[in-house]
Amino acid sequence: MSGRILIIDAVATNRIVLKVKMLAAHFAVDACATVKDAKALITQTQPDLVLINLCNPSENGYDFCRQLRHSPETATIAIIAIGGADTATARFAALDAGADDVLPLPINDTLLLARIRSLLRVRSTREELALRESTSRALGFDEKATPFAPAARVALLTGQPDGGLSLCHRLQDGLRLDVRQQDPASVLADAGAEPAPDLFVIDACDQEQSTLFGLVSDLRARVETRWTAQLIAVPKDAHDMASMFLDLGADDVVPADCCEGELKLRARALIQRKLGQDKLRDTVRSGLQAAITDPLTGLYNRRYAEPHLARMAEQAAATGQPFAVMMIDIDYFKSVNDTYGHPAGDAVLCQLSAHLRANLRAIDLVARMGGEEFLVAMPGTTKKQARLAADRLRHLIDGSVLAHADDGSPISVTISVGVAVSTPCATDNPAISKICTSADKALYRAKSSGRNQVAMSKSAA
Ligand code: GH3
Ligand code: MG
Ligand code: MG
Repeated sequence: MSGRILIIDAVATNRIVLKVKMLAAHFAVDACATVKDAKALITQTQPDLVLINLCNPSENGYDFCRQLRHSPETATIAIIAIGGADTATARFAALDAGADDVLPLPINDTLLLARIRSLLRVRSTREELALRESTSRALGFDEKATPFAPAARVALLTGQPDGGLSLCHRLQDGLRLDVRQQDPASVLADAGAEPAPDLFVIDACDQEQSTLFGLVSDLRARVETRWTAQLIAVPKDAHDMASMFLDLGADDVVPADCCEGELKLRARALIQRKLGQDKLRDTVRSGLQAAITDPLTGLYNRRYAEPHLARMAEQAAATGQPFAVMMIDIDYFKSVNDTYGHPAGDAVLCQLSAHLRANLRAIDLVARMGGEEFLVAMPGTTKKQARLAADRLRHLIDGSVLAHADDGSPISVTISVGVAVSTPCATDNPAISKICTSADKALYRAKSSGRNQVAMSKSAA
């Protein structure tokens, strides 16, 4: 895994030793002695992760961590604090200042590398989502504010019926959490029965280690539980076990004997991160949906239709089946707007779209290509079938009331349709544009010979 790491340590030998280890693990590394130099290097090199030794008495590493966290440019940089006293209070102080983890000296290399990999994984997911979200925003699809956030749901997995009680109490106190205890043996079988929790807290002190390794990776792999954060409580100094959990996909490990503050801090950070990512995913999903959908009619738009048509043509070539394209245009639509007003025109467009969608097969594509013009693409359709379908649609619209004027009088329109059918060998994009041009030309003929009719393309596209 690649990533850029900045080492901040006042002692030259420490810096060198750490740098060699990081280089051996194929990370890009910069190192400096002071917080002042670190600030300059961060601007210059934009590291993914900072490793800071907190033992240097001449510097306030805690303040530095806090500054990194609070500045928008550096807030997502992962921070691992090393050194400092290995006491519950000291650990809490570092985490509270914004460090993602605190590792005591002497450093356990396996644990350090596992922790770095885990944090870099999180960072790259977060950055990718943030990038997609900014695209969605640029396209004008801002996330909606959640008016009411329900309590986060936590499942506590512990092997002993009452073993989790103290963990439960320690977690719940002061945080708005809905904590439930669950039997690890049944959690996989139950997954999907109800929405996955936001956080799994797994007590690894009283359960078979190999079973838990399997459980952690299974929970990470399963569709139902893959986004749920995982916090594992491990026995003190069980570094190899902790490293293994991190590499298997756990988000965080915590010594089981940690203070209540540390447990809550870690749980809260994981829940916040998880909920933030949920929100980002939703924004991206709805942004993507909005980007390919016409807001008025709910039909696909041109942006979606073009690549979809290309895929349909590829499939037609692979299966040797023909496919048909219809261009549909409403007749004299301008006069609908002029007579009844634009909102009535909009209502006609919506109703006509609904009719088209309801009267075609699920595999047919219906898209609004612009104004009052629609495209229908029908895979596995011969010229004869396409003609029948086009006639059916034309006839259906001709006999339908699509909207009502302010005075209640019915509004109807007619459509003209141009149809072209591809030969099975037409595979590439020029062939797509050719079939669309043929359908356009046929539409033009339908218009010029009186409207409210279907015209078939003369040439096979
Ligand atoms: P033709 O039979 O030759 O197709 O005549 P037409 O009036 O339908 O064609 P023309 O291209 O002259 O006018 C299209 C009209 O469609 C003009 C425009 O105001 C209207 N239009 C385009 N998009 C919308 C829309 O989103 N809502 C409404 N209400 N009208 C729209
Ligand atoms: Mg028209
Ligand atoms: Mg038109």
